[in-house]
Amino acid sequence: MPNSSIETGKLLSTCFLKAKASPLFQPEQVLSHCLRKAEENKYNAYIKVCSEYAKTKLHQTQSKPEHPLRGIPFAVKDAFCTEGINTTMASNILRDYIPPYTATVVKKLEDAGAIMIGKTNMDEFAMGSGTIFGAFGETRNPLDETKISGGSSGGSAAAVAEESCFFSLGTDTGGSVRLPASYCGVVGFKPSYGSCSRYGMISYGSSLDTCGIFSKTVKESAIVYNTMCGTDYNDSTTKIDVTTVDLSSLESIEKDFNTGILKNTKIGIPLEYFVDELNDDIVSVWEETIKWLQDQTGAQIEYVSLPHTKYALSTYYVIATAEASSNLSRYDGLRYGNKVSKKQDLLSYYLQNRTEGFGKEVLRRIVSGTFALSVDKYDTFFKKAQQTRRLITNDFYQLLQDQGIKYLLTPCTPTPALDRDAFTKMSPVEMYVNDIFTVPSSLAGIPAISVPIEINSKGTKSKIGLQLIALDEQSCLEGATVLEKVKL
Ligand code: GLN
Repeated sequence: MPNSSIETGKLLSTCFLKAKASPLFQPEQVLSHCLRKAEENKYNAYIKVCSEYAKTKLHQTQSKPEHPLRGIPFAVKDAFCTEGINTTMASNILRDYIPPYTATVVKKLEDAGAIMIGKTNMDEFAMGSGTIFGAFGETRNPLDETKISGGSSGGSAAAVAEESCFFSLGTDTGGSVRLPASYCGVVGFKPSYGSCSRYGMISYGSSLDTCGIFSKTVKESAIVYNTMCGTDYNDSTTKIDVTTVDLSSLESIEKDFNTGILKNTKIGIPLEYFVDELNDDIVSVWEETIKWLQDQTGAQIEYVSLPHTKYALSTYYVIATAEASSNLSRYDGLRYGNKVSKKQDLLSYYLQNRTEGFGKEVLRRIVSGTFALSVDKYDTFFKKAQQTRRLITNDFYQLLQDQGIKYLLTPCTPTPALDRDAFTKMSPVEMYVNDIFTVPSSLAGIPAISVPIEINSKGTKSKIGLQLIALDEQSCLEGATVLEKVKL
């Protein structure tokens, strides 16, 4: 007689398509298993687990038509509004906020029958790369508890890595899905800007904010993407020509990665990504993967240049903080946000609510963003950053469109998952350097994915994320399906 809890647990380590096809798949048991694990909250991945809500939803799915996501438990970063369920952005200022509506992307997944089991931990207002700076404590890395889970969507990455759900949602403004995915050894997909609605996703930097997906496999990310992408009349920045990904092409690559999909395909290796901060282990995984692709798939490797990419980090931190300073001005205790102040005059009231409601990093960014937008500094900072962003974007299009390079392959992060203690001792600027490889494609608004590459060094297995950048989701996910096969 098989132990049903162990068997159910095993199902969680595979993709949901395989799990569902198994005779052992019992939706109620799978859900209970996930809820138990989420409630145990071993790595503090969850801010809130919604057990009763999830059970009711599962009951309601019985009347829904079959869909690959029907009955599949998933978790959502606490940055997405969920009707009647606290949504905190991991901030004290929103600690008691209960949204009156659900974010479009979450609603689409629920409409397909996926079961939301909880809201995951993050850096406050999605500002950070460690899931250390939130009002609900830090999320530890399930692969190694002495390491950070990465951020800002660390809770969502850890939830998939610890196998308390099959997939999860995060937000990626400058790398917050790809970076924690890379640290936690899971797939992290950031679609292009505007392909998925931002309606109900609490804003950080509106021109950069993108909804992203964590999963065990690339194909799962593709299925989730197909379910939630599309034009939304509640978000005027969604594109009008969003197409879903053709899964059959991913399936044929899964069956045989050598179908010729990459034969003579140009893969660019940007020379500017060989930065001083790059760790040796990352370089060797990158180089060995390049060689693997050349040898195994016939891909044509070209060393290319993205000349303005060296300005990406500073450009990003000007634009993101400027937009954040504007977006976060609504949290004053009157219009939005907790009221702690009893002060009578308006300015003191705002000041106290905001000073006590926001954490240190958020306050720092509001100040620097306000500075970049101030009358005297606007031209030198914000306007210049906008102009530089255009040049950075043009670099990508020049390679990926004009020069026929189909992919850019880069590391996702300069180092493997950082030690928790070392990370907390870093200065803000040292922390910002962790985003060096993820912000350029965010500024350009194009798809990028982090794929875990399994390495086997002296008998010890570990994973390091490599990033694949392309101009469209179909190409990005096809390439990533090949990358998933790399074994070093
Ligand atoms: N680490 C980056 C930042 O702090 C990216 C965050 C994100 O993508 N939300 O801004």
